[in-house]
Amino acid sequence: MPEFRKDPVSARCVIVSTERAKRPQSGFPSELSGREETCPFCTGNEQETPPEVLAYREDGSARDGPGWSVRVVPNKYPALTPDAGSADHQGVFYKAWPGIGAHEVVIESPQHATSTASLEARQFAAVMRAYRERMSALAGDERWRSIIVYKNEGREAGATLEHVHSQIVALPEVPPVVAAEMENAQRHYAANGRCLFCELVGDDVTGRARLIETSRRFTAFCPYASRFPFETWIAPKTHAACFEHSTEDELAELGAFVGRLLRTLTKHFPDLPFNYIVHSAPLRENAAQYFHWHLEIMPRLAQAAGFEWGSGLFINPISPEDAALLLRGAGSGG
Ligand SMILES: [Zn+2]
Ligand SMILES: [Zn+2]
Ligand SMILES: [Zn+2]
Repeated sequence: MPEFRKDPVSARCVIVSTERAKRPQSGFPSELSGREETCPFCTGNEQETPPEVLAYREDGSARDGPGWSVRVVPNKYPALTPDAGSADHQGVFYKAWPGIGAHEVVIESPQHATSTASLEARQFAAVMRAYRERMSALAGDERWRSIIVYKNEGREAGATLEHVHSQIVALPEVPPVVAAEMENAQRHYAANGRCLFCELVGDDVTGRARLIETSRRFTAFCPYASRFPFETWIAPKTHAACFEHSTEDELAELGAFVGRLLRTLTKHFPDLPFNYIVHSAPLRENAAQYFHWHLEIMPRLAQAAGFEWGSGLFINPISPEDAALLLRGAGSGG
């Protein structure tokens, strides 16, 4: 059973989840058999995954069979499970508590596509819709305090299966990265009466220097203190705290917009390994006024290495201004 543990020296929380070691291609010795013959995410292999919790299907097609365009299933090797028992330990030094949570996989194409940038706009919009639907469903569970949506594409970015997919994790507490964002946003709101992100996506602060591209409702920019070369953030231009409250039209536009940005990135860096994550307002926190959902794309052109792990500081060899300039140039060419 997974458990949360807190390190007494750093106060860092860690999830110990031994199920994860059983993943295919996870790099552990028992997996030396190499690539699996059949891809569990390809249509026709639906029985290889746990039963679906959501699927967009052709009329009349049966659950857990072919006929879907996007399919969401519980992760077969979850980092957290909804009913992890035991593990409540509050010692002087060592504290542990049950690793409860939900961990789902969004399979983004029935075919064996390996690049998100290759998905058609309509298909990628359906993926966004699946995020919204599952986030809304998970938000209804009183136990969860935060939902993280993320994608790992490419081995260097942590993907263990190449078939295009992303993941959704519901957590029983607000994780450190979101908690820090929430704290800063709350402080800014208290001092200025305005949403921090609304100000950042406004032209006056982001400036044209770090702006990559805008659509009717969204802005893409390289953040001022980008951790990674070509780090790209996308946020709605008008205030919106919860991704899961997005409308059908917004998601259609977002799918096309993010798809275009990924194509621009892969035009410069073919087979680019990357992660993206969606940060939406934590649940049951009353953060609607000051939290502003956003999607962060983190290209993995350089590995976080000793200095980053040892110091918590990132070294970025490309200035966000230069990165935005390059991405803007490619974007205008179509
Ligand atoms: Zn596949
Ligand atoms: Zn805002
Ligand atoms: Zn964020």
